[in-house]
Amino acid sequence: MSRRALLAGNWKMHLTIAQAVELAQAVAAVCADCRDRDVMLAPPFTALAGVAQALQGSNVFLGAQNVAWEAQGAFTGEIAPPMLIDIGVRMVIIGHSERRQIFLEDNVMINRRLRAALEFGLIPVLCIGETLEERESGATFAVLEKQLRGALHDVPPGQAEQIVLAYEPVWAIGTGKTASTEQAQEAHHFLRNLLADIYNKKLAETIRVLYGGSVKPDNIDALMAQADIDGALVGGAALQVESFKRIIRFQ
Ligand code: PEP
Repeated sequence: MSRRALLAGNWKMHLTIAQAVELAQAVAAVCADCRDRDVMLAPPFTALAGVAQALQGSNVFLGAQNVAWEAQGAFTGEIAPPMLIDIGVRMVIIGHSERRQIFLEDNVMINRRLRAALEFGLIPVLCIGETLEERESGATFAVLEKQLRGALHDVPPGQAEQIVLAYEPVWAIGTGKTASTEQAQEAHHFLRNLLADIYNKKLAETIRVLYGGSVKPDNIDALMAQADIDGALVGGAALQVESFKRIIRFQ
C-alpha cells in the first residue's frame, strides 16, 4: 500500500499577513513540480485570506490551526468550519499539543472538533503525542491509545479514511530534540495497529501518519525512510523557505 507523502507546515502564531503571503508564494513556487507528494501550509487565521490568494492555482493545500465544533453561534474567539471553507481552507490541525497543554483542550473537545471538521468536508490533521514524563514512566502507548480512541469516538470508518494522523511527542516539539527514527517508527507502527483494531487493517493502511517534532532538513530523509512514516508536520523549519524546501524535497 503506498500512501502519498504529506509535508505540512504549521506557522503557529508567527508572521504578518505580508510575510505569510511572501512565504506562501515561495512555497507554491517550490511545489510547482511536486507530483508525488502533498504540501500543506497552516498560517495564523489573520493571514488565511492572503495566503489563500497566494496559493490559488498552486497544488499546495491551505490549512487552519484549529476549528470550532459548531457552525455558528456565541463562541467568542472560535472559527467555524463553514468560515474556513469560505476562505478556501481544505485541511485543519486539531488537537495540537499546544492546544492541549496551554489551552487545556481535552479529548472530548478534540473529538467534537474532529467530527465537525469531517462533517463539513475538511481534512483533519489530528495530533497526538506523549509528554517526556509520560515517556519516561513507560506510559507512551497507553497515552497514545487514550488520545486516539478519544478523538475517534463515534467517527465512522467512511469518515475516518479522510483523517491524517500526526504523532508529535511533546518533548520533541520546538525543542530541537527529535525522536530517533526507531522511536518514531515504533510509535507509528503502534498507531497503525491501533487504527486496524479500531477500524480494520485496510483502512489503517490508507491513513497517513505524519511525524512532528523538530523535523529539520538534516533528519527528514531518515524519518521518511521509515515504513510507517508518511510525512511530517513541521513548525520552526517551515518558517523559512530554504529549510522547508529541503523538507518538501526529502529523498
Ligand atoms: C509543530 O508545530 O507541530 C512542531 C512539530 O513544531 P517544531 O517542528 O518546531 O518542533
